[in-house]
Amino acid sequence: MDLDRHDFQLDELVERIKKNDHRLIALQVPEGLKMQALEMMDEIEDESAAKVVLAADPCYGACDLVHDKMRAMGVELVAHMGHSQMNIDSGMPTEFIPVKYDGEPGLEDIFPIISSHRELAINRLKNLKEIQTVNDENSKEKFLDAVGRIAPLTNYKLGLVGSIQHLHLLEEYKGRLEKLGFEVEIPVGGDRLSFPGQVLGCNYSGDSPEIGHYLFLGSGDFHPIGLVLHTGKPLAILDPYTNEAREMSLKVIEKILRQRFGLIMAIDRAKSFGILIGEKPGQMRRNLAIRMKRLLEKHGKKGYLLALDHVGPELINFYPVDAFVNTACPRIAIDDSTRYEKPLITPYELEVSLGEKKWEAGYQFDEIP
Ligand code: SF4
Repeated sequence: MDLDRHDFQLDELVERIKKNDHRLIALQVPEGLKMQALEMMDEIEDESAAKVVLAADPCYGACDLVHDKMRAMGVELVAHMGHSQMNIDSGMPTEFIPVKYDGEPGLEDIFPIISSHRELAINRLKNLKEIQTVNDENSKEKFLDAVGRIAPLTNYKLGLVGSIQHLHLLEEYKGRLEKLGFEVEIPVGGDRLSFPGQVLGCNYSGDSPEIGHYLFLGSGDFHPIGLVLHTGKPLAILDPYTNEAREMSLKVIEKILRQRFGLIMAIDRAKSFGILIGEKPGQMRRNLAIRMKRLLEKHGKKGYLLALDHVGPELINFYPVDAFVNTACPRIAIDDSTRYEKPLITPYELEVSLGEKKWEAGYQFDEIP
């Protein structure tokens, strides 16, 4: 990643510091940009009278605001970099600082991939319209999406999404894709998302039956895996950092689903569970955790509520329970479960294991709304 090509947009922050005559502010920076943090602290201190404290604990999202700790330290303003505001009340003045990356990959290499995905979506839509004329068995074979559902589809539009540092490209790319003959929608999600086309690892709420396939502008598999697990739709990836064009492999999704099913089978005889509650403000799902505890009680099993700020194997492996149910960041169970000695499952997976939900109805991604 070429850090010099990021625009950190500190001007508004410096203006706000000067206007309010702040003397102590905190800077919270995502892991991928921490290398630049000291440079940013220098810039803010050079251009204002404020001293800057770096909140140096790991930070993976705007769900993770450090306000209480920083308030106790006398901090007057938190500058949170690289994520956008969520539907959580931090209770403290916060400046969300967007970070833009200036890479603009061409569409030549992605064109064949999104064209083939559009064909898949058109066929799926056509088959869905014929669903009345086939029997149950055939329909299951013909219409299942990537996570095993007969999900509703009313169109085959291309959904154009991205991670936050590339969202400024979406409108321009929409125009370019439309010139290539695609009908494009930049989906608008729920309150957890601030911008059209934005996706988070825990929220893909902009998805609609109008969208038949996706193009994601960004890098890595983190968002693509979540998007396919949530929507079941074909997904192409265009990486502005490397210009690489590729698709989210269904083999990867199948492997994850096999692993999830294996964990569900593994907890069949489990009697006691640790139910993890995330203490980070945007991950805290106390009601869901209590519902899981009640559900376990209903099935004659025991659930212990464990509240943590960070979730990690070294913090929970030693508890004498048979398995863990995670209600903190949903991606801990999906992406990190192999790091844990005992099965770590999502609330939906617990419900499947207890017979409250059916695996055959298609995988349900654990979304935080
Ligand atoms: S809950 Fe997890 S996936 Fe969602 S924003 Fe926070 S770190 Fe990202």
